[in-house]
Amino acid sequence: MKNKRTMMLPGPVDVPHQALLASAQKMIGHRTSDCEDLVAEVSEGLKYVFQTENDVLVLTCSGTGGLEATLANTLSKGDKVLSLCTGAFGERFATIAERYGIEVERMNFTWGEAVNADRVEEKLKEVGKGYFKAILMTHNETSTGIVNHPKPLGKLAKEYGALLFIDAVSSLAGIELKTDKWKADVVVASTQKALMSPPGLALVSVSPAAMKAREESDLPKFYWDFKRAKRFLNERPNQTPSTPAITTLYALREVLKEIKEEGLGEVFDRHKIMAKAFRSAMKKIGLGLLVDNEDEASKTVTAVELPKEIKFSTLKERLLEEHNLYITGSKGHLKGKVFRVGHMGNTTKSDILTTISALEIVLKDEGLDLELGSGIKAAQEIFYKEER
Ligand code: PLP
Repeated sequence: MKNKRTMMLPGPVDVPHQALLASAQKMIGHRTSDCEDLVAEVSEGLKYVFQTENDVLVLTCSGTGGLEATLANTLSKGDKVLSLCTGAFGERFATIAERYGIEVERMNFTWGEAVNADRVEEKLKEVGKGYFKAILMTHNETSTGIVNHPKPLGKLAKEYGALLFIDAVSSLAGIELKTDKWKADVVVASTQKALMSPPGLALVSVSPAAMKAREESDLPKFYWDFKRAKRFLNERPNQTPSTPAITTLYALREVLKEIKEEGLGEVFDRHKIMAKAFRSAMKKIGLGLLVDNEDEASKTVTAVELPKEIKFSTLKERLLEEHNLYITGSKGHLKGKVFRVGHMGNTTKSDILTTISALEIVLKDEGLDLELGSGIKAAQEIFYKEER
């Protein structure tokens, strides 16, 4: 039954059939016109999804590599950055910066709450223009399921002479992100989340200001050097400095084509409906949501509070063994206290209903007082309404 598994993780996610087939194509050399065509098509498709005129660099690594590359390329030892931390991935971005000898000022927000732009503005006012070289933020904090809105932060960053770096690993192609309009200097995504491709590539949009910072940066860089990547992309053209993950590129090209055909607006709307249906079901069966504010709630992942009497490991194992369904837990102090369900990319209404059904059965059997089918009905009502 392994081929029947329902992937409800916040990445890696289920890869659509056509993309899987595409990734099984014959191998090609990375210095051939076939590969150049592949990179060219992927680059064009990425610009559409990132909503940018910037080059989107294709780096062979997962999302974390993209974050590390961003810092190593644009900053120097002793530079000051403001890191907006709303959960485990915000923490990670800050930690990488510290390892590179960058002076990091963390602005912490309670896990489950979004960045408060007023607090950021106060801080920037206090230190003045040019104090921070960059602001680091997580668009969709996957560990809690909160969305931080980049628009006011882009405006503030420009006003105070800072670059804005956005970790959009679990949001790009699932939640609206207007790279250019919202003045983001670097946006990092990766293939295995809402871009519904196999893992293997980080995709990094780099603004002219960030490229200028690359010239001033004194941190060591080679494999993920933005300048080399940009040169190979523009001058070869359409190549990468080293061998890229060609099978992942095949799948990504197919996915980008599908996204374009569906339309980005429709893709975002579809994510909103999936999230709304799942959230509504969880509330109906009596579970708390870590993020209870609909506007700030993630459209790609939901963190649900686990009743104290139920062990997360039991829930996870039973869902896998009895229902062939993957979910995950959370990190840090939320470990064991919430479970997370990803609903991004290729997630269908049937996946949502299957997940709710499995959760209802296992949670009831583990002692939660709930009426079987009540969560499913709540989700159906959302789907029904959306279709009228
Ligand atoms: N940032 C965010 C917001 C994430 O959700 C993740 C992974 O879940 C990462 C960074 C790390 O990505 P990767 O596992 O691709 O390195």
